[in-house]
Amino acid sequence: MIRIQRLVLGLLFVVGLLLAAAPGPAKPRNVILLIGDGMGPGLVTAAGIRSGEPTHMERMSVTGLLRTAIADTLPLDSAAGGTALATGVSVPNGRVSTSADGAILPTILEKAQAAGKATGLVTSGSLVQVPAACFAAHVANRSAKKEIAAQLLDSRLDLLLGGGRKHFPKTEGWRLLDGIEQVGTLARGRTLGFFERPEVDEPAEPGSYLTTSSLVQGALSFLAPARKGFFLVVVHDQIDQAGHKQLPEAGLQQVLELDAAVGVCRRFAQESKDTLVVVSADHDTGNLTLESGTPSQRQVKLSYSTSRHTGNPVPVYVEGPGSGGFTGTYDQTELPRRILRTAGLER
Ligand SMILES: [Zn+2]
Repeated sequence: MIRIQRLVLGLLFVVGLLLAAAPGPAKPRNVILLIGDGMGPGLVTAAGIRSGEPTHMERMSVTGLLRTAIADTLPLDSAAGGTALATGVSVPNGRVSTSADGAILPTILEKAQAAGKATGLVTSGSLVQVPAACFAAHVANRSAKKEIAAQLLDSRLDLLLGGGRKHFPKTEGWRLLDGIEQVGTLARGRTLGFFERPEVDEPAEPGSYLTTSSLVQGALSFLAPARKGFFLVVVHDQIDQAGHKQLPEAGLQQVLELDAAVGVCRRFAQESKDTLVVVSADHDTGNLTLESGTPSQRQVKLSYSTSRHTGNPVPVYVEGPGSGGFTGTYDQTELPRRILRTAGLER
């Protein structure tokens, strides 16, 4: 009897060891890339101070720094920064996922789509604006919005959520959403939802527009059932607007709004266990300075030192299977390459 008890205990011990050592999936099935347009590292630190606890971004397991001052252009605009993140190629300002000599540069979303993954593009700004447009359109100039809209409609993405309805007079071949709650009930396939919101300094009633979290929640409920997993790109646009208008408090609120969406993605990833979450930026806007304050009392005085983009590095925060490969300081163009390698979409 004692021998059997010992045997059972021994077996339990071995099983326990095996469970403890069981690695998660080697490569993620799903990838979520969130981009704060114009989000430099100071804003994230300030957001953590103001909220009295580290942001979701700061709590992610891996942190790195991306050089945006690379190749021939400093500072980057959102087209070149977006193209670097979408394609891994450095291009002149203004170009949307096309090279200086006009060649079409395939994007990480297009590669994920070709590999059979469900794909989604969500933005708090207009769908035809950069950096969002860089993930599914290829034009020589970011101002060619009519052409960008036509290309987005020609794309084979499963989900497009964002503003800019006026640029899409026709939406043939796409299911149009009436509301975000509807999206989780639909099967995969070309689905388009227009959700407009005011500029960062325009007055707005609370609840009069959907937050990035609500859009992301909808997108995740739509994409999660995909058999081969999904690739979701999320852009939060208004951080850049706050920088250009030199409104640090507004910038802070926008980063907190993006951070809430990051929180939604982290919870999804913790439950699914096979989702890689990456958060970064296309460039810094305004070089936000933490001038003075009492962090222990959640006080911090902020100012932007310019109303323009800068060549400051931008942070990258990563969590999930393969996240260990994202640490360090590297060129922004390297980020999509690491994502593709980690997700097994490219060697
Ligand atoms: Zn800008």
